[in-house]
Parts: sequence; C-alpha cells; structure tokens
Amino acid sequence: MKVLVPVKRVVDYNVKIRVKPDGSGVDVANVKFSMNPFDEIAVEEAIRLKEAGKATEVVLVTIGPAKADETLRSGMAIGADRGIHVKTDELVEPLAVAKILAKIVAEEAPGLVILGKQAIDDDSNQTGQMLAALLGWGQGTFASKVEITEGSVDVTREVDGGLQTVTLKLPAVVTTDLRLNEPRYASLPNIIKAKKKEVAAKTPADYGVDITPRLEVLKTAEPPARKAGIKVGSVPELLEKLKTAGVL
Ligand code: AMP
Repeated sequence: MKVLVPVKRVVDYNVKIRVKPDGSGVDVANVKFSMNPFDEIAVEEAIRLKEAGKATEVVLVTIGPAKADETLRSGMAIGADRGIHVKTDELVEPLAVAKILAKIVAEEAPGLVILGKQAIDDDSNQTGQMLAALLGWGQGTFASKVEITEGSVDVTREVDGGLQTVTLKLPAVVTTDLRLNEPRYASLPNIIKAKKKEVAAKTPADYGVDITPRLEVLKTAEPPARKAGIKVGSVPELLEKLKTAGVL
C-alpha cells in the first residue's frame, strides 16, 4: 500500500509573527520556514507504517514556491521515498489544495492519505476534510493512534473530553494530532541521500485546477496587548478582589 503525505512549507513555529504595518498580512521577510509540524507527524507515521511492513512506499506532495523543495527534502531525509512538487508562488486556499490532491490521488492510487490536522499559518483545518469529501472516502481526523488492519484502518481521534475510535474502509484520509507520535531527527547521511531522491515538478495547471482565491482577507491584526497584572498582599485581599471583579 502506498501512502501519500501532503506537506506544507510554513513559517517556523518558533518565529514570533509580525503583522505588516498596513494590516495586509504577516511579514515573512527574512523569516525561517520549515515543514508544518503536524505534517512532520504525518510523515513520521507513514514511515512507521512502512517500517512495520504495512506500507510499501511513502510519497510526499507539496504545493508551494520553489523553496518548498526544502520541505520535501526534509521529509525524504527521515525516510519518505519520493516527492511531487506542484510549483506556484500564489497563495493556495484549502479547497484548491484539496482539488489538486484529489487529482494526484487519482494518478498515484494510494491506500492512505495522511495530512496534518491543520497548517499553522492559516489554521484552516479544512484540507483533509475537503479531500475526503471530493474523493468520497472515509476520514479519521485528529488522529492520536492509527492501526492498519485487513482492508481497513482504526483511527483513535482526539475529541472534546476524550477519545473516539473509528474504523475506516481503505482507501481513507487521516489527519494527525499532536500526540500521534514524536517525529525523528534526520541524520546527516540521510540528509545528503535525500538530495538525490526523485521529485516530480508539476504546476496547478497540469492538474487543470483553478487556484484563483475565493476568499478576501480584509484585515490581519495582532492580538490586543495584555494589561499588566497587580500584586496583592494577602489571600483575603485576593479573595476580596476576585469577589469585586465578579469572579467568585
Ligand atoms: P489546512 O486545511 O490549511 O489547515 O491544512 C491541513 C493540512 O493540509 C496540512 O497539514 C497539510 O498536510 C495539507 N496542506 C495544506 N496546504 C498544503 C500545501 N500547500 N501543500 C501541501 N499540503 C498542504
């Protein structure tokens, strides 16, 4: 069974985001980028399935600028077999990403697609769900455990207040949550080997998908600054303040 893993190049999670002064978006000049953290978990899970003999090949796909090649290489450095790079400098919204992925699924015929539950730049949490809908496949979102059985996959999902396990008939779509696994680090020899792995260069037009945005961002703003706190002298004083504030 082939596993397809879509991976997105995003602003690194350690970077303190700055909003452009005109509010038109986030300032990405001279900022570190890396693979979306949930996608690292997806790649790790696919590799573990291959190591366990449940998957035969792990194929990565990224839709993004020329630099997104680095994202594919970092996934291949931890064990993915090859990549597909759909090149574009435009911002591609989840529906267009899902449409491109659906076309790639038709060509590659994977048994499982594992995506991140959300990209930490747009926080959409939509692509996996839209892809499953376009394909008419079952979906197991927010996975904290994935177990392949004969012709199906058991996915334990992190839902409000607990865990839910669903069985999906394969092929299926899974999206990863934080606790699914801890991704490994790439070794230097594997980073070098990854540079030679095969990457197919494509464009959205190759798949006949119109990526024109359907959403207009009206404004991007920093969260309001937090007010300074105060120090209280004693527990009775604290209780009094909480009572006056209506907290107690
Ligand atoms: P989102 O719906 O934007 O929050 O993204 C959810 C998941 O879809 C991500 O974690 C990726 O696995 C995948 N995805 C979103 N955008 C892209 C992209 N441009 N290239 C590859 N995968 C993507």
